[in-house]
Amino acid sequence: MKLLEDRILKDGTVLPGNVLKVDSFLNHQLDCRLIKALGEEFYNIFKDAGVTRILTVEASGIAIACAAAELFEVPVVFAKKGQNKNVGKDVYSADVFSFTKGFSNTVSVSKKYLGAADKVLVIDDFLADGQACLGLKSICDQAGAEVVGFGIAIEKGFQGGGKKLRETGIPVQSLAIIASMTDDSICFGNDD
Ligand code: 5GP
Repeated sequence: MKLLEDRILKDGTVLPGNVLKVDSFLNHQLDCRLIKALGEEFYNIFKDAGVTRILTVEASGIAIACAAAELFEVPVVFAKKGQNKNVGKDVYSADVFSFTKGFSNTVSVSKKYLGAADKVLVIDDFLADGQACLGLKSICDQAGAEVVGFGIAIEKGFQGGGKKLRETGIPVQSLAIIASMTDDSICFGNDD
């Protein structure tokens, strides 16, 4: 998606450890017009998949998930990190190793908000090693829900997550795929 690629080139910075910093428009300050466009793109890609719920993980996936969900007219459910009294004990959960933080977190979804009749679109801001998306898929598996697609804003194609997700056979659509990045250049590629 050219709009997203151009914005990454304009405002993204590469941090040590293969981390792309996009906090001026996606991870801290939010460009709502851009996020709305990302939501529209996901809607156009997955509109015929019968989506009944959009699932993401707190925090940065939530805004994109909401932009898409408004068009799908379905609820967004976001997995909560850590022990959370708000969620209660009746939960589906998975351990997710955080690429940026370097430690594992338990993420949970209340059984009230995901069930066997659901067709779930999983949305996240980044795909690196695939831990977050695979954790969300595990939560759907526990609920008996079907994951009908993974919608990723920025995939780092040089890391292993894309391969792992595509091996599940579930459609994976990334709006920008970074083939390589260094301190002074970011190159995009595609997944075919
Ligand atoms: P994965 O679970 O695929 O290894 O990593 C995806 C998660 O880690 C995303 O939810 C995102 O929050 C974070 N993440 C991974 N790589 C990056 C990155 O390069 N930049 C930013 N800002 N977040 C990342």
